[in-house]
Amino acid sequence: MINFLPVIGLEVHAELKTKSKMFCSCHNDPLERHPNTNICPICMGHPGTLPVINKEAVRKVIKTGLALNCQISEHSKFDRKNYFYPDLPKGYQISQYDKPLCLGGFLIIDGKEIRIRRIHLEEDTGRLIHPEGADYSLVDFNRAGVPLMELVTEPDIDSAKEARSFAQELQLIFRYLGVSDADMEKGEMRVEANVSLLQLKPKTQNPKPKTLGTKVEVKNLNSFRAVEKAIEYEVIRQKGILGKGKKVIQETMGWDDVSEVTFSQRIKEEAHDYRYFPEPDLPPLRITKEEVLRIRAGVPELPQNRRTRLIKEYKLEPKAAEVFVTNKDLGEYFEKTVSEFDPHLSKEKLQSLIKLATNYIVTDLQGLLKGALVAGEDFLITPENFAEFISLIYEGKITSKIAKIVLEEMFKAGADPSHIIEEKGLVQMTDEKEIEEIIKEVISQNQKAVEDYKKGKENALQFLLGQVMAKTQGKVNPETARKLLLTKLK
Ligand code: ADP
Ligand code: ZN
Ligand code: MG
Repeated sequence: MINFLPVIGLEVHAELKTKSKMFCSCHNDPLERHPNTNICPICMGHPGTLPVINKEAVRKVIKTGLALNCQISEHSKFDRKNYFYPDLPKGYQISQYDKPLCLGGFLIIDGKEIRIRRIHLEEDTGRLIHPEGADYSLVDFNRAGVPLMELVTEPDIDSAKEARSFAQELQLIFRYLGVSDADMEKGEMRVEANVSLLQLKPKTQNPKPKTLGTKVEVKNLNSFRAVEKAIEYEVIRQKGILGKGKKVIQETMGWDDVSEVTFSQRIKEEAHDYRYFPEPDLPPLRITKEEVLRIRAGVPELPQNRRTRLIKEYKLEPKAAEVFVTNKDLGEYFEKTVSEFDPHLSKEKLQSLIKLATNYIVTDLQGLLKGALVAGEDFLITPENFAEFISLIYEGKITSKIAKIVLEEMFKAGADPSHIIEEKGLVQMTDEKEIEEIIKEVISQNQKAVEDYKKGKENALQFLLGQVMAKTQGKVNPETARKLLLTKLK
């Protein structure tokens, strides 16, 4: 049995979030629905026009490079990549060839270092639309000239799952940095996977040979699922070929999301010669140490750090921490809430409050927050009010049933919880005499159930308890009610 080790390298494109396009002042909005509205003579490549570098885009790439432990090139430049395609109005793409902005970084995935070869800056192309059944195609240039960042890894990834985790972590980092929304469905982030297999000789220890196998490049991966599935498929396909003693052909492949297969697009012999040369219309870039320091100061806490910190600082379960890491806003909300708790409380009490807050945020609040976001409404529950709400539950002032009503009111009106409780008369009943009165009533009105209970029917007790809860509108602690009911029934 021959052993094969998958060898995978990723190329990731991300559209940068800037106000204007890469080399002109056109609005950067590739999702604009009216075709060809965000265009001008520069991004349309009219003769005699001159591009101007978007500094913000350069800074965003450098920021990404710093977050990914890259070296930032002091000297960098743009190059022309020449090819013809109808979505490329100039007949060339301005990109970076031998002097990219960032070199040699890494990202750690599940304890393993994946090296990043380079990150460079280029411009996006337009978009072709092929109306169904028509014998023509349409072209929309809104996206042409949008700043596009390309990141290339070394072939350090060795499974489909790892490739997916890498891409997902990268998306999260782009979002934390605010450099790209990186939504794969919207084409803001696109992944290409290079896949080959290494033949490992049986028995020998660590037999990783120095020369890699022939790779194929899979394009059009528009979701994380597609990244994982396409690589899985390629690994199996190539194992089949090599297992039969045949050779893998170096080619560019597409991914069919419906049939879940890769298919050949072009083989290496037809590969392009892009005739790269330095872009004569743009000055070379010189990036000063001061500028790099300024950009570094703007790099926020990154997801991996936040993940470990949340677990350590708040003793969160990894699952809850993950929710707060992937939903950055929710995580910030959580930390603000915790900071509202009285720091002089005992450690145990503080920890219980944190746990309670975590549960409510992950279950109830998360949905409310998303709802407000989707509706474009302000979120009215301040962390301060929410912290108070959690304290009220913790102290037993409101039952979990009442808590739902209070939270709903806080969401609608933005009032503080003690206000709502008072106004709506939702204070928990604590006077046992008062509760006993109600229990007496329930017992006298439900004699049949009482007899059933005495005959040993457990359901009857649940029924009576339900009656008590209903009569008190949920304002009595269910445990207390149960205890008092049992004594009365005796
Ligand atoms: P190309 O010139 O075909 O673009 P590169 O050497 O520039 O190839 O690498 C492009 C991507 O392919 C990188 O992410 C790199 O890590 C990956 N790669 C290179 N060789 C292999 C290989 N044999 N197997 C898998 N991935 C590879
Ligand atoms: Zn333009
Ligand atoms: Mg390539």
